[in-house]
Amino acid sequence: MIMTDSVLILRAKTMLPLAGEKPARGRELFAPLKKIDNGALVVRGGVVESALPWPECKPPSGARVRDLGEVCLAPACFNAHAHINLSHLAGRTVRHRGFAVWLASLIPLLGEPLAPEVHKRALLDACADMADAGTAHVGDFCGSTLVNPGPEAVDEAGRACGLGMTHFCEWLGFLPPLNDEVYPWPPHCRAALAGRPLQAESAPCGHALYSTAPQTLRAVRSFCARQRKVFAFHLAESPEEEQMLTDGGGPLKDMCVGRLLPENWRAPGMRPLAYAGSLDLLGPGVLAVHGVRLNTDEAAILAESGTALCLCPRSNNNLGLGVPPMRGLTESGLLLCLGTDGLTSNDDLDVRREAVYLRERLDVPPEALVRLLTVNGAAALGLENAGRLTPGSAADFCILPELLTYNS
Ligand SMILES: [Zn+2]
Repeated sequence: MIMTDSVLILRAKTMLPLAGEKPARGRELFAPLKKIDNGALVVRGGVVESALPWPECKPPSGARVRDLGEVCLAPACFNAHAHINLSHLAGRTVRHRGFAVWLASLIPLLGEPLAPEVHKRALLDACADMADAGTAHVGDFCGSTLVNPGPEAVDEAGRACGLGMTHFCEWLGFLPPLNDEVYPWPPHCRAALAGRPLQAESAPCGHALYSTAPQTLRAVRSFCARQRKVFAFHLAESPEEEQMLTDGGGPLKDMCVGRLLPENWRAPGMRPLAYAGSLDLLGPGVLAVHGVRLNTDEAAILAESGTALCLCPRSNNNLGLGVPPMRGLTESGLLLCLGTDGLTSNDDLDVRREAVYLRERLDVPPEALVRLLTVNGAAALGLENAGRLTPGSAADFCILPELLTYNS
């Protein structure tokens, strides 16, 4: 057993502490990272004391030394977007046939009876997998359509696995008009949050422009801005979303009208980014998710607004939605980060594998990807000083996959 003041020294072939790194945008993403070869991370009572070359490390007597071997050690990762609550539905949706087909396969599953112990097991397994993958913190959307829908079950599972969490409590559909002073929280989350510490780690959010009432989105965004909470929503994910918002037609509209939207719903006649802007949803403290359909001009507008963008490239690929326009996104100066989305659209919740995907598929350099996983993910979730192994920080680390190992 490690005593609280005991010293543990982790040795690794390479270490990327990211000390002093700020959230990176544009060209900053590609700047060299300070690397320590044959590195030692000195940890006292779970807190980083120093990160230095092994030969300079003078272990105090009684210190435990663990040699991690030929690996690259980095700060633990930030998974800025997941749907942990849906983990029990892994592998049951239709993939590679577009967004509307995927959604049509998901909707009936959400209404299935769900035994609490089955749900609890799925949540625990999902959280344990994320912790094992070196995840420090998750931005989790808790939806409103499950039998046990509030954030408390996910929070309990996350705590059991040592994960930090931001719970985004999702407004979906055209619920009764929102009085944001009294009811900023969606109904399914109110009981779990009222007067509880969990509320401080939670934020109301919108599902998407096509599925959440515009007045609700506006009110929640305004509440989050006043409370200094991150406001999150899915944006520019699919061609179906684009079609529905621009000309009011297509399969997504057929699926939503009468279910989530009123029969008299009318399309705003705008592309998603322009519509989000017209509702005042963009700006610092906002986390848009996906952006796979953003064009270069839209990426520039989003960057200019100060909005952060979470990419979930494997989820996009699995739904047949293509790849994010990485060149335009990075050149725009956007604050980019990574998320897995949920197990209904992804194979696992290891956010490092989103970075590996971008490395393999789009040749994004490792220094940019390591920043997306750490300092940028932390900043996008409003955790400005996290994502670094610096004296005084929590000793949360991950081992980088070989393709992200930084060798220059
Ligand atoms: Zn999502």
